[in-house]
Amino acid sequence: MALNNSQYDTILRTYEQKQLHNRNILDKRQQNVYNKVPEVVFINEQISSLSVKQARKLLEGDANALSELREQVRLLSKQKEDLMVQAGFPADYLEPIYDCPDCKDTGYINNQKCHCFRKAAIDLLYTQSNVKNILQDENFDTFSFRYYSENHVDPKTGRSSLSTIKKAHQTALEFVDTFNTEFRNLFLYGDTGVGKTFLSNCIAKELIDKSHSVIYFTAHELFDTLAKSKFGKDESADEMNEHIFDCDLLIIDDLGTELANSFTVSQLFLCINERILRRKSTIISTNLSLETMVNTYSERTFSRITSNYTMLKLTGDDIRIKKKLMN
Ligand SMILES: [Zn+2]
Repeated sequence: MALNNSQYDTILRTYEQKQLHNRNILDKRQQNVYNKVPEVVFINEQISSLSVKQARKLLEGDANALSELREQVRLLSKQKEDLMVQAGFPADYLEPIYDCPDCKDTGYINNQKCHCFRKAAIDLLYTQSNVKNILQDENFDTFSFRYYSENHVDPKTGRSSLSTIKKAHQTALEFVDTFNTEFRNLFLYGDTGVGKTFLSNCIAKELIDKSHSVIYFTAHELFDTLAKSKFGKDESADEMNEHIFDCDLLIIDDLGTELANSFTVSQLFLCINERILRRKSTIISTNLSLETMVNTYSERTFSRITSNYTMLKLTGDDIRIKKKLMN
């Protein structure tokens, strides 16, 4: 899946809107300053006429005159800043405003798409359609411990479902808090309906709200998409793979519900491995036991997971049934 022309135009239009919006803010600010500190009008006129001269000298290759002009502009700018600060404005009040300073709201840096463009594309192609509606209902604010019992004890670990979910919840919060500084991955496993998807949705919501690019796929959708890109004739295949390998967070939900074959096994390894190399976080959830995981997806995939992921086992009764009973 890559951007079609109209989607591409949609994104470019948002950049135009951002630029226009920020220019309007700046115009208003300028007017405020001019009203309060009229000297600034005069200084700005001087600066712009010097800048024109500067450009001319640059064309003429006159290096000395150029540095002299620069110094004059610097002094005038400083004078302007001092006047503004004295009048109670912040020093950078008239600096250009950008939502993304990296590309100055153009979407491109040296003809390469900026990270903010890639995020917008992912948002448009995957996030909006796949997950945004669900996230209104499933997030940290709506998360509840009341479906987890202290009496439901996992015989293997000796821990109650309540204590396991509390730890998992804590880990999920840490995952979000340290997302910018630490490379982490989560592997959530356990029976059906114990809140694995809910927990990854909580994380997704937080990170999307913080402007990270998040792609959510069920395992079935992921392999389907990878197959289309591998076997399809679509020119945009590389771009699609790039999104899967490069988004800030990839969520693979319900691993094991797809029809496993040599293609899915090799693609899962590729995907996991590639994202580890790029230090991009992944969350995998599955109903499979660890034994079945190894048998289905090969030992090398499993060992990449165990050595790079935090393994969280959730236990309990099926919450979807419990919710119905309790409501
Ligand atoms: Zn940008």
